[in-house]
Parts: sequence; structure tokens; C-alpha cells
Amino acid sequence: MGSTVALITNATIEPLYAARLRSTLAPLGKRLIQIVLPDGEAHKHWETLNLIFTKLLAERADRKTTLIALGGGVVGDITGFAAACYMRGVPFIQVPTTLLAQVDSSVGGKTGINHPLGKNMIGAFHQPQAVIADTAVLRTLPARELAAGLAEVIKAGAIADTVFFDWIETHIDALNRGDETATIEAVRRSCEIKAQVVAADEREQGRRALLNFGHTFGHAIEAGLGYGRWLHGEAVGCGMVMAATLSQQLGLIDSATRTRLKRLIAAAHLPTQAPILGSDRYLELMRVDKKTEAEHINCILLKRLGEALVMRVTDHTLRAVLTASTQS
Ligand code: NAD
Ligand code: MG
Repeated sequence: MGSTVALITNATIEPLYAARLRSTLAPLGKRLIQIVLPDGEAHKHWETLNLIFTKLLAERADRKTTLIALGGGVVGDITGFAAACYMRGVPFIQVPTTLLAQVDSSVGGKTGINHPLGKNMIGAFHQPQAVIADTAVLRTLPARELAAGLAEVIKAGAIADTVFFDWIETHIDALNRGDETATIEAVRRSCEIKAQVVAADEREQGRRALLNFGHTFGHAIEAGLGYGRWLHGEAVGCGMVMAATLSQQLGLIDSATRTRLKRLIAAAHLPTQAPILGSDRYLELMRVDKKTEAEHINCILLKRLGEALVMRVTDHTLRAVLTASTQS
């Protein structure tokens, strides 16, 4: 771990949880540097990253200094990227404090920042040494953020594990109220699923793309409405319903399966009706999404609950789904 530890967090989380983490670290006798970033996705950019580098250099942090990210996905992504770059790479540890970060962004090694021309466009693969998730911190999380995290939990079940999907259905009320036992189980199983998928395909040459179920539609919603209007998880929730509609139209799943998924997403207090942006605008935004290749659009579809696949889909088919999704 080296003799120095840099604790990186934001202005919202620092007063809530930094003291506890500092006291946990104290017995190790390390020199502690603390860096408090401004809160929000709007600050996930180059200037904030440079703030971290400046402080690390000014404090003479060396190549063995371990960075600790205490926060949600924004702090985790930016700290991970700082760790990937500082002195050509230093170790880092994720201490995720949102449900989304605990079940998704802290695992898998994708790090990065936004560029004015695109979200998450500048980044690196850099795996954390450890991910330490304490579900007790979720008690202070706003309800909307909790629901957004549940979208990724539902996604994990939908693409990879029928038994887990059934379990989420039975425990959705407990998850909504933040029941500790249910939340721990949801975090544990979601991380297992993500870790398994990533271990088989770290650089997203194939199977890792399945984790983007609901995301191609979701990213179009986020970008089309303007970032920040809908939370990422809200857009993904709605995007999963759209992807299920598409799967049904292609004859992969029946309407009962689509309805089951839609009901669960609604039960998690996530939107299921797509905002009206116009089919042309949706298609344009879906094509810009970095997960698609030039002329056609690769979509993640459901073969059944618990199994997903990637398929090229024509504009014609997509238009029909977009029309249905914004009306039904
Ligand atoms: P976030 O980091 O912005 O956190 C949401 C809000 O909750 C913030 O205001 C934050 O300060 C606050 N907060 C965090 N923990 C809290 C707590 N315990 N109590 C009270 N408030 C708390 O958002 P997020 O949803 O955690 O992460 C979204 C980011 O994650 C996006 O930038 C997205 O691109 C990224 N992401 C990355 C990956 C990946 O694989 N690296 C995957 C998914 C998402
Ligand atoms: Mg996501």
C-alpha cells in the first residue's frame, strides 16, 4: 500500500463518511492526503482530474501511494482514472457509497471522465485492488438514487440469472425500503454476475456488451433529454422495457415475459414509458452511442429472462419499437 494514502471524496459525502474511513485507516499509521471534489456529474471532467494530480504532486505522493475512492460512480470513475494515470499507474481501492456504485460502477475496472463532446469518452481500464461496499451508507442515499441503482440489479438478473430475477421480484418491496438483508444479497449477487461477465471479457470484445442491456435506448434518453434530467438508472430502466419490446417484436420472447420485466421495473419506482424525442432523433442518438458500430445498430436483446444476446437490428424494426414505446 505504500506509506501514503490519498482519500478522494466529494463535498456531500465527506461530512457523512470520511471521518469513519479516516479512523479505520488511522491504526495503519499511513500519511493521509484528503482531496474533496465538487459533487456532480458536471464535474466529472478534465479540470477536476487535474485538481487531483496537482494535490498529489504538491503533497509528493509517490508511485506506491494508494488512492481510495469514497463516493458514488462519479468519484469512483474519476479516482480510478487518476490512479491509472498518476505516475503511469498507482493502486486504488473503491469504497462505493451509492447502490449503483456498489452493484455496478465499482466493479469491472472501467474508469474515466467526460469530454464536452461525449460522456465517458476519455478513460482507461484499471482494476481496483479491492472494492469495499458497506450497505449501511445507503441509508442516507436519496430515494431516486436508490431506485436508479435497482435498475442495474434488475438488469443483472434479466441478462444472466433467472433465479436471481425471481428473487428480485419477491423482494422488491424490501429492496425499495432499503432492507439490509435484501440489499446485501442484491449487491452480492449483482457483483458476482458482473465480475463473471467481466472476467470472461475484460476489454468488451464480446460478452461484456451484454451488461449494456437497456443502455443503448437509455443513453439516447439521457442525451436526448439533456444529461441530468433522468438519472442513468431511470433511463436504463425504461431502456430495458424498450429492449424487451424489441425482443418481443423479433419473436425472441412472448408478451408475458415483457410484461413481467416491465412490472418489476415499475415496482422499483422506475419509469417505463419512453419520453417523446421522435424516432429520427432516437436513431441518431443510438448511433452516436459508442457501443454501436457505423451503419447498423447492435442491440442487446432478451432470449428469455436470464439470458441475453447481441443482434444487429434494422432502422425499420427500431422505428416500430420507438413508436410503440412512446405511445403504450
Ligand atoms: P453519483 O456518483 O453522482 O452519486 C449520486 C449522488 O448521491 C451524488 O450527489 C452523491 O454525492 C450522492 N451520494 C453518494 N453516496 C451517498 C450517500 N451514501 N448518502 C447520500 N448521498 C450520497 O452517481 P452514481 O449513480 O453513483 O454514479 C453515476 C456515475 O457512474 C456516472 O458518471 C456513470 O458514468 C458512472 N458509471 C460507471 C460505470 C463503470 O463501469 N465505471 C458503470 C456505471 C456507471
Ligand atoms: Mg449502467
